[in-house]
Amino acid sequence: SGRLQDKVVLITGAASGIGAQTARLFVAEGAAVVLSDINIDAGQQLARELDAAFIAADVSVEEQVERAVAYTVERHGRLDCMINNAGMIGVVGSILDTRTEDWNRTLGVLLDSVFFGVKHAGRQMRKQGGGGSILSLSSLAGVVGGVGPQVYSVAKAAVIALTRGAASELAQYGIRVNAVAPGLVVTPLVDQVYGDREKAVQGATVNSPLGSAAVPEEIAASLCYLASDEARHVSAHTVVVDSGVSAA
Ligand code: NAD
Repeated sequence: SGRLQDKVVLITGAASGIGAQTARLFVAEGAAVVLSDINIDAGQQLARELDAAFIAADVSVEEQVERAVAYTVERHGRLDCMINNAGMIGVVGSILDTRTEDWNRTLGVLLDSVFFGVKHAGRQMRKQGGGGSILSLSSLAGVVGGVGPQVYSVAKAAVIALTRGAASELAQYGIRVNAVAPGLVVTPLVDQVYGDREKAVQGATVNSPLGSAAVPEEIAASLCYLASDEARHVSAHTVVVDSGVSAA
């Protein structure tokens, strides 16, 4: 049996990149996975491929996150693991030129979404008697701050703080809350920032002690560990998978 045998898992942003690889790995490890994304075509296609369920949800809208949790419970009877993975780069460039509505829209997708995920998954896990693992995607940009797109860094730093706060609050229900902070991972998201993948990887590896960018499978592996019972005493933690960049 797999490392996640019979665990019920909801993954947001599961249609692409890290979320898609995580869905594949978790299914292979025996989990019952529900995929969610704003991209309905790609999400449904991967769900069919994995013989898993799909629900459309925009993570910046609280009701839609709540509905995705409810759908998962209707379908599989419970929720053991929530993965707040959906994301985008959002507004980039100078703070002085950033429009407040763009700032807020980006925070909605990258930060409000994690609050909604923690809140509604946490309520469900408490209701079903406790236990469970809530995971969120932070970033190297959130660990070191001040790099690249400013709102993105701010949101990803806040995800680390929210993870610690939620872990502290939810421990009384046996619920663990952790984050994974990747450095550069080659996915479609990278194209939104750098346009040129080759250049992005070169740029990221210049300051990298380990000299290369990670692939989505490696982030999925960290999430798998944190979702599994092997990590039953790990909470409030952010696993940094950045080729050593933040320590360089
Ligand atoms: P990706 O673009 O390949 O996938 C992101 C998915 O999220 C897409 O399927 C997209 O449709 C979905 N999405 C976007 N906005 C949404 C919304 N409002 N509601 C629901 N779904 C939405 O990106 P990825 O690289 O796999 O990124 C996954 C997560 O990892 C993100 O949170 C990202 O910030 C984080 N991350 C990525 C990197 C990297 O280098 N790729 C590094 C650090 C952190």
